[in-house]
Order: sequence, then structure tokens, then C-alpha cells
Amino acid sequence: MVMKPSARSWLAEVEQLSGHRVVVVPVETNRATNTISIPADFPGRPVVRELLMQENFVAQFVRAYALTVSASQSGQRFHFVLLNLARAEQWQDHREQLLAHEAGHLWLDALGYRSLQVDPSDPQACLATHASDIVQHILIRQEMQRRGFDSSFWIFNQQEWLRQLPESGPVNVAGCERAQVVSLWLDGALGLNPSVWPQWPIWKVRTRQAFPDLVAAAERLASFLENLNLWDRSLYEAALGRVFRQLQLLG
Ligand SMILES: [Zn+2]
Repeated sequence: MVMKPSARSWLAEVEQLSGHRVVVVPVETNRATNTISIPADFPGRPVVRELLMQENFVAQFVRAYALTVSASQSGQRFHFVLLNLARAEQWQDHREQLLAHEAGHLWLDALGYRSLQVDPSDPQACLATHASDIVQHILIRQEMQRRGFDSSFWIFNQQEWLRQLPESGPVNVAGCERAQVVSLWLDGALGLNPSVWPQWPIWKVRTRQAFPDLVAAAERLASFLENLNLWDRSLYEAALGRVFRQLQLLG
């Protein structure tokens, strides 16, 4: 019998490796009343409460399906996986893969593959997040595959993106959204192919029509990244730096 891969057990492994507690927190946001609610009692609750009072953080959170943050409270360190319940309708069919992807980020961190650290109030913080995602997602996809997770989460992400694109013509995006386009495109280009996702060729055409300059920049990054062994820590670090500089140049 083949065991179904489990995100929970991967998260438990992260706890062992890092020595820090992993807490999955469902977060409810209500746009109408502009309120946020979290469960009444869970380990590290005051830290999460404080995070959710930061405007920048909340702005990033409402656009995400889930966010993972590491923080300390009275000397104890926690990894929080915050699930955005407002978007649960979109991700609930892929919950296991979504959690596995977050476990992947924490697992890499515990193994010493750190993400780029930039102060959250720095305007470059968003670029650092996307640069880290671009490089880490390549490793996470390989590890998810090794652990037997399918590609449904990555396909779902691209399908959602494709659904929002106009039928034709270029789309204007500014600021950090430009980096987000490059990051999403690289996920689709490096992580998927027509045999796992038949819509892939259409996706390629449509994204190029929508973002010609950004896709050209992303293609250059793709050819640099796909030939690197990112498990080699020095190459991993070098790739993070190079991707970050490229995102800065997108302006
Ligand atoms: Zn990610």
C-alpha cells in the first residue's frame, strides 16, 4: 500500500529539525466590518495578534492564500502558518498541497537555505519575498515530488492567474506586482508542462501577450536558474542575489 503524503507529518518534521513549534492558524478577515479574527486560544497567540495589527502585513496577507512567519514570544520561537479563510473557497480542495508548500519553506529554512532578510518596513521587502519564493519554489517542487505530492496546488495557482487575464492585449502592472508576475511566471514555466497541465501552451501564449517585457525578463532568469543545482548552498545564495537584483531592475 502506498502511503498518502501528509503535510502534517512534514510540518512535524520541521518542528523536530528546527526545534521550534509549528502552529497552523486559521485567520478570518471580514472586509465589510474591517475585522480580523483568530481562534481564542493557541500557542503564541499574542505574537500573531500583534502581527495582524500591522497594516503592511495585513495588506500582504489578504492577497495570499496562506503566509508563514517565524516569530518569538518570551524567548520561545514559533513558526506560524496563517491560513486565509476568506479565500478558503479557492484553496480548500488543495489544502494538503498548500500546507505542504508552506512546510517546504520552513523545511528549507531549518536546513539553512534561508530566504532573503529585509526589514518588513523597507520598500524592497516585497522584492526580497518574491526573489526568495522564485528560488525556494524550485527546491520545494522537487521535494514535494519526492514526497509524493502532486502538482495540483501549482496548477491551481496558474489557473487562477490565467482566469484573471484579459483575452488579449497587454496588462499594465506597477511596483511590486511586476515582481509578482515574474515569480508566478517562473513557477508555471519551470514547474509545469503540457503532460501535467494540458493548458500550459495556452498559458504561455496568454501570459506573454499580457506581460511581454516581464515574461522576457522572466525567460532570461529561467534559463539561468534551470541549469543550476540549487541544493548547492553557495549556488543557492548566488541565485538569490542575482534574482533579487533582476527584480530591482524591473523598476
Ligand atoms: Zn511559496
